[in-house]
Amino acid sequence: MLRFWLLATTIPPPGLCYAGVRTMTTSQRSNLLVVGSVAIDWIITPKAERAESVGGSATYFAMAASFFTPVRLVGVVGSDFPEQTTNDLRNAGVDLRGLEVIEGGKTFRWKGRYHDNMNDRTTLETHLNVFESFAPKLPADYADSEYLFLANIQPSLQQQVREQMKKPVLVGMDTMNLWIEIARGDLAKVLNGIDVLTINDEEARQLSGKDNLVKAAQEILKMGPHSLVIKRGEHGALLFERDGDIFAAPALPLEDVVDPTGAGDSFAGGFMGYLAGQGTAVAGPVLRTAMICGSVMASFCVEGFSYDRLRELTIDQVQDRFDRFAHLTDFSRANLK
Ligand code: AMP
Repeated sequence: MLRFWLLATTIPPPGLCYAGVRTMTTSQRSNLLVVGSVAIDWIITPKAERAESVGGSATYFAMAASFFTPVRLVGVVGSDFPEQTTNDLRNAGVDLRGLEVIEGGKTFRWKGRYHDNMNDRTTLETHLNVFESFAPKLPADYADSEYLFLANIQPSLQQQVREQMKKPVLVGMDTMNLWIEIARGDLAKVLNGIDVLTINDEEARQLSGKDNLVKAAQEILKMGPHSLVIKRGEHGALLFERDGDIFAAPALPLEDVVDPTGAGDSFAGGFMGYLAGQGTAVAGPVLRTAMICGSVMASFCVEGFSYDRLRELTIDQVQDRFDRFAHLTDFSRANLK
């Protein structure tokens, strides 16, 4: 099998606007590296079905984060992976030098069916394919990236990338029920070296062994991360901090949810992208705004199949939706005594 990396130079000339970031101002932005799955999905919803739907945790993450900061992607695909998607990612400014293409190999494939409520889903098939023998080796300058996100993929691969990083300012991570079930030991090692974990409510219960989410958060925050984001689909997301602080972000009430696939990864992309784009110390108020940026990107993602909505978005639309979220949660403090 032949291995090669996609050669895309996306390093901006000094002083010039970073061509890839889909915003105009670039002064403080840090590099955000993501490792995760790049996939071909087969999605079944109660109303529609799409085979050969491009997905993967790193794909959604990168498309969403590219609105906020320069993104570098580490992953692997086979020669069946559509060129259209590598072009879409490049057009969004994503640096693909870390995307390995295995000539003759088959891309990771996942098949899932959504239940009537569109919040719950069943995994029907997972084929790791090229991820089975993947050994990520970062291009030299990737190791200096200030922000790192270990998107959902085997914990052992997440750890290999974590270990190659020099001194990231902030490390985020996602995982899923499959890895909690079959790779708990590896997962514990990765968890120990990260700052922020983003998982959904079922995964939080499974990981902690606690049904109540507040208790689950307390247990998980002892495993390594100082902040925990629990994503709850149409019910929004919760941020738990070690000092006991909690923040709740709503989900935008939408009339039509087309395909929830990738909502969690798009949330993480908006969340981490905003933090990296700020380039400041990660403190409470910045994390809260990042939660809203995550909710904004997730709300767009579910409006179409695959990353269709994220591809066509403009930064003006992202800003408008951010403002809608601000309005959605805006209320005056009252003195009730
Ligand atoms: P989300 O809906 O945000 O949880 O992410 C959906 C994406 O996760 C899909 O596009 C899948 O390709 C990808 N995915 C599903 N199972 C796995 C897995 N075991 N490891 C990595 N990625 C996965």
